[in-house]
Amino acid sequence: MSPAAPEQRAAELREEIARYDHAYYVDDDPLVGDDVYDELLDELRAIETENPELRTPDSPTQRVGGKPVEGFERYEHREAMLSLANARSAEELEAWEGRIRNLLKRYDIEASEITYVTEPKIDGLAISLTYEDGVFVRGTTRGDGRIGEDVTHNLRTIHSIPLRIPDPPPVIEVRGEIYFPRSGFERLNEQRAEQGLSTFANPRNAAAGTIRQQDPALAAERPLQIWTYGIGYREGVDHASHTEELEWLRERGFRVNDQIAAQKNGAEVVARCKWWEESRETLDYEIDGAVVKVDDRALWRDLGVVGREPRWAIAWKFPPTTATTKLNKIVWNVGRTGHLVPFAMLEPVHVGGVTVSTATLHNEEDLARKDVREGDEVVITRAGDVIPQVISPLIQRRKGKRLRKAKPPKECPVCGTPTEKPEGVWTICPNRTGCPGQVFQHIKHFVSKGAMDIDGFGEKQAYRFLEDGLISDAADIYDITAEQLVELDRFGDVSAANLVAAIAGSRTQPFSRVLFALGLTGVGDVTAEALARHFGSMDALLSAGEEAITEVDGVGPILAEQIVEQLSDERTMALIAGLRERGLRFELDESERRAEEGPLKDKTFVITGTLPELSREQASDLIKQAGGKVTGSVSKKTDYVVAGDSPGSKLAKAQELGTEILDEDGLRALVG
Ligand code: NAD
Repeated sequence: MSPAAPEQRAAELREEIARYDHAYYVDDDPLVGDDVYDELLDELRAIETENPELRTPDSPTQRVGGKPVEGFERYEHREAMLSLANARSAEELEAWEGRIRNLLKRYDIEASEITYVTEPKIDGLAISLTYEDGVFVRGTTRGDGRIGEDVTHNLRTIHSIPLRIPDPPPVIEVRGEIYFPRSGFERLNEQRAEQGLSTFANPRNAAAGTIRQQDPALAAERPLQIWTYGIGYREGVDHASHTEELEWLRERGFRVNDQIAAQKNGAEVVARCKWWEESRETLDYEIDGAVVKVDDRALWRDLGVVGREPRWAIAWKFPPTTATTKLNKIVWNVGRTGHLVPFAMLEPVHVGGVTVSTATLHNEEDLARKDVREGDEVVITRAGDVIPQVISPLIQRRKGKRLRKAKPPKECPVCGTPTEKPEGVWTICPNRTGCPGQVFQHIKHFVSKGAMDIDGFGEKQAYRFLEDGLISDAADIYDITAEQLVELDRFGDVSAANLVAAIAGSRTQPFSRVLFALGLTGVGDVTAEALARHFGSMDALLSAGEEAITEVDGVGPILAEQIVEQLSDERTMALIAGLRERGLRFELDESERRAEEGPLKDKTFVITGTLPELSREQASDLIKQAGGKVTGSVSKKTDYVVAGDSPGSKLAKAQELGTEILDEDGLRALVG
């Protein structure tokens, strides 16, 4: 390599990384996977370590993340918001711990005196919350670490951010991470896909995209959450340790993760990081690693900061859930509402613990926006149970290849009917009642776990029954007889009787499930439940106008319009009539109605500890049957805490907030 080469390569890398940073931090829409990004950054870091003279102050190795976006007021953090150094293996983590020990030896501090705290590394959006005399006055993004964007209007919509705190110091800047709960994220993407909007690549982008909106109504509609993990600038308050600081935050009503724990040495830290990695899929928030911090805050000053990274903390990064592979073919399917849905056939690749060979491309608009083509190298992501998805093509690797733009087929891939593209909508198969693909997708949804939950009825059965002409829509399912099933091969007397019984049993599913099972665009399980509770019956919902529907929790005007449109569609009407004839439930039953009007209506409960007679589930059922709600953590919104033996910190929190505390007898008396 000539002497000029590292300089040139460093410049190239900086330019490429700057482009990816912009897409990631400003547009909230990454162009490449984190694997590719991290590799480039590592390469640049290595060049700069070997050639320190090439390390410019504006190098991405030296500065934090994005730039503040235009359109928001800028805010200069009173204390910089930093990034974190990374460890990708147990060895790297232990090496960091060794360095801490060595550095602190200079101050006559023994290894046995050092404690570490390990916390989840939330994959969200870093924010800073300023409180003056206890009042939340400003919320900002990290921006470039020095200057962030003022997004107070959106942060105010997040209920778990206290607007006022008790016993306050004059000024504090609380630091934390806004995230999009995984459950809510999947629902959001489904809804967006169905509404013809582009989907978010991951919960992080969804959180960042939501917080960087001018209209707070949008943030208010989305279930954003926060974990706080520290204080930046402060006046009039100090804490000896990080643990004390977290406790102080918790006491003031901030949401602090209760799995944060302390360790005494490198081996314990590694074990805790591995525990986080194993727990990862069970959490309702995405984490991309664990963060280890030295607990003693006095040592933070001794250890100091290098570049953009404090020495007293490190991030243990999990292996990436993104990978790069070749897209061999784009294939089309038809969705339950007639839209053509593209997906990618891939060169098999190992990611997130499994081998992936197909991935969703969501919808036509997403496909066009990302400009994914057959033959491209693409970045895919897979985490947990989420369907693998194509994030983006690597356009720079297309050089010299002639790849054609992907277009939806002219004929429905299932029934062959010529496709149509109504203005502003994606390509559809217009054969709404006759296209077996659409009916199949709807039946699959109708019988699924969250909908009618018919045991023994899955994708395979849906396919066969349609093929055999046993059914032609969801209502027909209720006419299937055991004799008909036995006539089909692979059904014995017992399995036929079981399936018919399961079908009959599903008639008692509550109205909210039936509503969800109809498969209306944008009406997921939560919206169906909210609509059912609000209107009480299908007839009431059918006669409600758009305005009345927007009164329902989580339903905005666009969705309300779509609901009205779909409910007045001939096919939906016919399906509802067919299902009514078969005895399905189109209104809340007596017990549900009673619950709605129960003595605990609008009351929120938290149960903690072991009760003398009732199990937690029984206590929770009692509360729900009386119209109350049960949640997991105590906040100002909690009306009652039901406490048994060994109640733990929730009782303490309730006492501190002055929440009414009940024992089992007290609960029974309240329920009557
Ligand atoms: P980082 O992810 O390495 O870590 C620093 C951040 O961690 C902090 O700013 C804070 O927001 C967060 N954090 C979460 N939990 C925390 C806790 N308990 N304590 C303290 N901090 C906590 O730094 P970064 O600069 O935000 O982002 C780098 C990451 O972003 C890399 O993984 C990189 O791959 C990815 N990235 C990807 C692209 C792309 O194009 N794919 C572009 C830029 C960055």
